[in-house]
Amino acid sequence: MCRIFIQGKIHPEIQVGMREIPLNDKEIPSLSIYDTHSNNVHPIRSAWPKPAKDLTQRQAAQKGIITPEMEYAAIREGVAPEIVLKELMSGKAVLPANRKHPECEPMIIGSKFLVKINANIGNSALGSSIEEEVEKMRYAVKLGADTVMDLSTGKNIHETREAILRSCPVPIGTVPIYQTLERGDLSWENFRDTLIEQAEQGVDYFTIHAGLLKDYIPLALKRTTGIVSRGGSLMACWMQTNKQENFLYTHFKEICEILRAYDIAISLGDGLRPGCIADSNDEAQFAELKTLGELTKIAWDLGVQVLIEGPGHVPLNKIKENMDLQLELCHGAPFYTLGPLVTDIAPGYDHITSGIGAAVIGMLGTAMLCYVTPKEHLGLPNKEDVRTGVITYKLAAHAADIAKGNEQALLRDKALSRARFDFRWEDQFALSLDPELARSYHDESSHSKFCSMCGPNFCAMRITQKML
Ligand code: SF4
Repeated sequence: MCRIFIQGKIHPEIQVGMREIPLNDKEIPSLSIYDTHSNNVHPIRSAWPKPAKDLTQRQAAQKGIITPEMEYAAIREGVAPEIVLKELMSGKAVLPANRKHPECEPMIIGSKFLVKINANIGNSALGSSIEEEVEKMRYAVKLGADTVMDLSTGKNIHETREAILRSCPVPIGTVPIYQTLERGDLSWENFRDTLIEQAEQGVDYFTIHAGLLKDYIPLALKRTTGIVSRGGSLMACWMQTNKQENFLYTHFKEICEILRAYDIAISLGDGLRPGCIADSNDEAQFAELKTLGELTKIAWDLGVQVLIEGPGHVPLNKIKENMDLQLELCHGAPFYTLGPLVTDIAPGYDHITSGIGAAVIGMLGTAMLCYVTPKEHLGLPNKEDVRTGVITYKLAAHAADIAKGNEQALLRDKALSRARFDFRWEDQFALSLDPELARSYHDESSHSKFCSMCGPNFCAMRITQKML
């Protein structure tokens, strides 16, 4: 396995890193696959030309300009840059790349492209250090996280984020309301200053709970688990205490002006996402979704790229309604969901309960899946939990890509199956999502033309080969 670089044609100054897997296979001698990992994180975008008048990627697309970022993302996806431009222009995709995060390797999130995954990291008041969080980020990206959200709520939020941003090749997202509280009271002025502080550092997308309105709070309070989003519960409590409308809603245009100046994407938060199966697809959830649709148009008109966040806890039979309504109410803006978890009864296994829902909603058109780790509902994930969460979600995203007929995804499966049938173990490991684990399991049996599962006389593939 090695990293190769593909030069841009429209923008020859760009060099797109891909992972090349050489194979001992005449039909598929090698495979170049999308690679989030980089051993050499540096400000690659600093020397690239910028669109005139500091246009956002959305505004550039609307003017028909293919930026270096668009071509970079297109090469990674194996599609023509015009497809990236078209999807950005219509708002059906986003390319989160703050001008102040030059280390970020551009990528695109939209239903026409490979399904992406996000890994959450960040400290809490009860644990972790800057070094541990940077290490978690590096590990998540190495395993294939397409974006990382720094959800720190503990000490040194600014310094932790700075260390993460300067060594991170993927877009970084945050929920700025967390640091607002660390800086002082929950007020519009304090929130605005937090936004600018984070924008200057280079955060690529912000989760902002602007769609949770005062009128929706009673709907949520009669639920089984009320409001389960941290940002949502904080804003709802503020509204109830101050008897005022959500200031993220009343100041939404000012927020968009700040975001446009840096080309930061907005991820419209689902503060009223259902926190259990009993609350799924309820009035509170869909009332907020409708408002997110209205805000999408305002943000688009101001040149800002938009993602829509989604649930949560949803049983399998109600997932399609979520996807259909999101597309209808939010005008095709990319959906970014947390799972969803398809049952509530498996704490300790919620990477699996949510991975099932994630694969289904990904197949239906969700563009990015936010990972869930085995620690969900139980504690702060450590490095090993990050590993489990990322691999589970790469699996869910890949399963969705296959179901959508993505050729890159299908070819990788074919290459792996050919390696498996030929007993080319090293090729099989190199093509797998978690080569280290696959190799270590095989080493326990270490046979070349069969494995300890069936043994030499019952190895079905070996028997079939004798028949050829
Ligand atoms: S022994 Fe069984 S599991 Fe192992 S390679 Fe052969 S068919 Fe597959």
